[in-house]
Amino acid sequence: MKKNLVTLMMVLVAGIFSKTMAQTDNKPNVVLITLDGLRWQELFSGADPLLVANKKYVGDTTELKSLFWRESAEERRASLMPFLWNEVVKIGQLHGNRNQGSKVDLTNSMWFSYPGYNEILTGTADDVNITSNNKFNNPNKTVLELVNNIPEYKGKVAAFGSWDVFPYIINKERSGIPVNAGFDLAQGDDLTDREQFLNKLQQQLPSPWGSVRLDAFTHHFALEHMKKKHPKLMFISYGETDDFAHDGEYDAYLKAAHNTDGLIKELWEYTQADPFYKDNTTFIITTDHGRGTEPLDTWKGHGSSIKGAGEVWMVAFGKGVKALGELTGNEQMFTTQIAPTVIKALEAPKKAFDLKAKPIRLNSK
Ligand SMILES: [Zn+2]
Repeated sequence: MKKNLVTLMMVLVAGIFSKTMAQTDNKPNVVLITLDGLRWQELFSGADPLLVANKKYVGDTTELKSLFWRESAEERRASLMPFLWNEVVKIGQLHGNRNQGSKVDLTNSMWFSYPGYNEILTGTADDVNITSNNKFNNPNKTVLELVNNIPEYKGKVAAFGSWDVFPYIINKERSGIPVNAGFDLAQGDDLTDREQFLNKLQQQLPSPWGSVRLDAFTHHFALEHMKKKHPKLMFISYGETDDFAHDGEYDAYLKAAHNTDGLIKELWEYTQADPFYKDNTTFIITTDHGRGTEPLDTWKGHGSSIKGAGEVWMVAFGKGVKALGELTGNEQMFTTQIAPTVIKALEAPKKAFDLKAKPIRLNSK
């Protein structure tokens, strides 16, 4: 009798367990991507006429012009980011072209990276606690942590970044979310051949910077993780655009933007070829801050003293996203809306969150 009862309970538990698993497996997945400090000006108008042939910022102006200079803004942006402007524009939404009246803005007043990522990931600006890029554990909980705290999403969230401050922004210690950032290597006793090779290559290919690795490493570590673990919520932060801009290398900045566009295309194509992700994954892409335009030199920088550095953009496509293309006509969105939009796209239980900002309505005009 007792034995039967135990068996019955085991069957019930297994039933509940597999039901929960199945429930989350059917729910949509989200890939949240950031391109550090890519200006909306390049995203929507391509190479800047004042910079593309400027010898102060470009090594080989002939080469750069042949790559990315075209007569119209539409042609320029398509040569710079062909995946976004030939494919995503047909299936998704691109917000933030202020020349068309579409505005996306930060609400934090710092206009540099930690406050920007804090705002993207937590859905709230925190100008009291997040006032530097120092490596301190974020007192705020990110959407990654909140989702990971829901039992059926436990262990199904992961973060990869090029910048070595992400373990602190995401508070890896408290959240328990796997964060591979900066010069971290892939870890575990089940490394794929590719991960082992990436570990070796990352140590043999020096980065131009002390705290940021080249994006190809972040990208391929992330891709391998997706193939192996199939996280429901994936955060990937590319960093080259910001660092090349700080270095004052406009050619490298444009080439990095072009390269990242290709990396995102590769991610999208992978998800559409994998039965777990296919037709059930939403991509949301944004940036942590803008950069200046006037005086010209300020394109290199950002921060509260740089006019326009609070102007950002947002791109979405995939599951549940209506094909609106490039948004025109007046609209105002804020970076605080990204985190609630992620939750909505996941169809995660709302009661686990208490975010004030409204999600962006991706499925309707
Ligand atoms: Zn920066």
